[in-house]
Amino acid sequence: MTTVADILRTMDYGPSLEAAAPVNTWLDAHAHSFRHFIHGEFVAPAQNEYFEVFNPATEERLARVAHGSDADIDQAVAAARQALPAWSALSGHQRARYLYAIARHLQKHARFFAVLETMDNGKTIRESRDIDIPLVVRHFYHHAGWAQLLDSEFPAHEAVGVCGQIVPWNFPLLMLAWKVAPALAAGNTVVLKPAEFTPLTALAFAELCVEVGLPAGVVNIVTGDGHTGASLVSHAGVDKIAFTGSTEVGRLIRRATAGTDKKLSLELGGKSPFIVFDDADLDAAVEGVVDSIWFNQGQVCCAGSRILVQESVAARFGDKLRARMRKLRIGNPLDKSNDVGAIVDRVQLQRIRQMVASGRADGLSCWQTALDAPSSGHFFAPTFFEDVPAAHALAQEEIFGPVVISMSFRTLDEAVALANHSRYGLAASLWSENIDVCLTVAAQLAAGVVWVNGANMFDAAVGFGGYRESGFGREGGREGMHEYLVPKWLHAPGAQQAQDAPVQVAAHLAPTEAGAARSIDRSAKFYIGGKQVRPDSGYSFGVRSGSGALLGHAGFGNRKDIRNAVETARKAGNWSQASGHARAQVLYYFAENLGARAQTFISHLQAIDGISEAAASQQFEQVLARVFHYAAMADKHDGSVHSTLTAHITLAMNEPFGVVGVRSPANTPLLAALSLALPLLATGNRVVLVPPPDASLMFADLYQVLDTSDMPAGVLNIVWGDSDELAEVLALHDDVDALWYFGPAAGAARVQAASAGNLKSTWVQRRQLDWASREQGQGGEFMRHATQVKNVWIPYGE
Ligand code: NAD
Repeated sequence: MTTVADILRTMDYGPSLEAAAPVNTWLDAHAHSFRHFIHGEFVAPAQNEYFEVFNPATEERLARVAHGSDADIDQAVAAARQALPAWSALSGHQRARYLYAIARHLQKHARFFAVLETMDNGKTIRESRDIDIPLVVRHFYHHAGWAQLLDSEFPAHEAVGVCGQIVPWNFPLLMLAWKVAPALAAGNTVVLKPAEFTPLTALAFAELCVEVGLPAGVVNIVTGDGHTGASLVSHAGVDKIAFTGSTEVGRLIRRATAGTDKKLSLELGGKSPFIVFDDADLDAAVEGVVDSIWFNQGQVCCAGSRILVQESVAARFGDKLRARMRKLRIGNPLDKSNDVGAIVDRVQLQRIRQMVASGRADGLSCWQTALDAPSSGHFFAPTFFEDVPAAHALAQEEIFGPVVISMSFRTLDEAVALANHSRYGLAASLWSENIDVCLTVAAQLAAGVVWVNGANMFDAAVGFGGYRESGFGREGGREGMHEYLVPKWLHAPGAQQAQDAPVQVAAHLAPTEAGAARSIDRSAKFYIGGKQVRPDSGYSFGVRSGSGALLGHAGFGNRKDIRNAVETARKAGNWSQASGHARAQVLYYFAENLGARAQTFISHLQAIDGISEAAASQQFEQVLARVFHYAAMADKHDGSVHSTLTAHITLAMNEPFGVVGVRSPANTPLLAALSLALPLLATGNRVVLVPPPDASLMFADLYQVLDTSDMPAGVLNIVWGDSDELAEVLALHDDVDALWYFGPAAGAARVQAASAGNLKSTWVQRRQLDWASREQGQGGEFMRHATQVKNVWIPYGE
């Protein structure tokens, strides 16, 4: 028998099992069989198909669950559509009461949800009990608050409509909360599809919706696999898709929603750096690695899976990490003293094994914790690969398992370069006792979340989401609410679809037209890198007035011209680093010089649109006012400090995307193009503008204004031709970080599909906007789309 003296000597401890009985009773009560939740009721699948769900730690069958077909999705979307008018018409306060009730009921059943999540997913009870479920509860409380404050905090906005929401298996209930809470707060109704490995907490949540008396159809849950998800994505009755999952599926969804008006947010994969500087508290950083990569068995999108450690401390850090790994306890996830639970499914386990085997086969140094796990169940030992080359698959691909790799660096610049050497940009963790180092590096990282001396911290008040191929859109906080809202005018009836006339290349000129061209003597060139540039194609086209008269000729742009423009915009990175004040000065100076040439532009506007001088003067005045507006905004698009549960200053920084392509529309061409380019320039982006070709002579007259306004070369580049073709080139270009497309539906569909390559953020408007209106033509919506939020968590006051 073990004595107290033995225990004190070995410091070993026995099992401490959480009871599974309440969950087993619940499963028995349902005869281990679950149907969809549609219109407030549990309904059988139309095709009577089911799939099996297992406990990954024991391989025991937990239940069979309905497999959603097109017909089930159809029924659920119809229920959500039916419920939408009444739900969105409730006051914010009334919706807040429902969200508050959901939070309270989740809290009352917290342990049940934690045990069910652990049994369904394999994560340890310590995590589901202390992290997942408390965060779920916090999310509903926080969003009850946003519902209450909707009118005052988001004036002139309303719900998007019916939201299709698709979640992965790694945080099943938490991902549900991240999606359902903001959607309901904003007045939307939802159809949610849980992941096929882990649908059970979502079904228990459906019962909770009944328990709190949520109106039927506000939340609908259809279980199933990727086909069910694809059916939801392509359903014409859905107004928004919110997806969390792999980058690969995110790309499919981007393509599937191209050409529709569906709003889209994508939370995708990552390969996040974990950077340890030589002055870091190494023991704390080692604990950070544990929280980063062995939390949830490394099945975490923002896991710090790439350790970058400063060369002078790399060996010491490796030793400390191995020592800590020896102490990790792997096993039954319901045992409260285990650190590492089971991998969600055999398929995922297989994927992890293969990747680790490939690293070993390549001769990489691999160290693993001894695996003393149960014989059944999907367990994998915590694994550490040291000195992995930056280009190796293990350093580039998401493993989504308890596997961390490391490499060393010498200087701060090298650390930043290595950290950003990834197609992803979800999160980063920084370890140094020097706040200057942390903040200098944080500012340079391409990542949506940066934790200083910490890892994997989340809070409902803080937006979460990625840069680059980690997706776009944010979940949580004020920034997350915008994903479920649209400006009210967007839903106003009667707006026209944008229609731009196509342009023909004029390879041969008719004699009379050639004469006319000579007498006007204009051949407008592009503006690339601060210089006037002839078209690569060697072709030009005739620019005509509104009445059809030939005004002159302009070069016809092709993909090479766009590539040159993107290259020069890429190099103009100093603009993004400049202060808002400095950018404002340039924009004010631009307004000043533009004003000095008023007559030139008024004449152009008259010629292009055939409008009176008075109307053209009025339009020009609006242009000047708009330039002033964005010059004024350049140093005022402030970020904020979010209020988190923990002692942190969490800075929500509005950062520019980088290089942004803009396809501007034909109506009121100067006002429209500048209304789009200016907010981007004011916030530090560099722009490749494709204005309507009919207005090219006028845009050619902008160059001298730009040249005399101290606008650095490459910050604003202008190329025209077939607008939709050039916009598609921009959408396909991997060095373009975001794209704004304002034009007809066919071109919108092309750019959205093409943008799937590097998953750039796109802002597409197929409606013809009233650019003179302050509501539609300028304001917060433009500034918001011009920036992406980076949240930097800085420990404070602990
Ligand atoms: P997955 O992309 O395979 O599946 C995610 C969800 O999408 C599941 O519900 C699945 O059924 C559904 N799905 C699959 N194919 C679909 C299709 N063609 N159309 C519509 N839906 C489809 O991802 P996974 O393996 O379940 O989850 C792991 C991935 O999720 C990782 O890449 C991880 O980084 C990512 N993830 C990201 C975040 C984030 O916030 N950025 C959070 C958690 C997980």
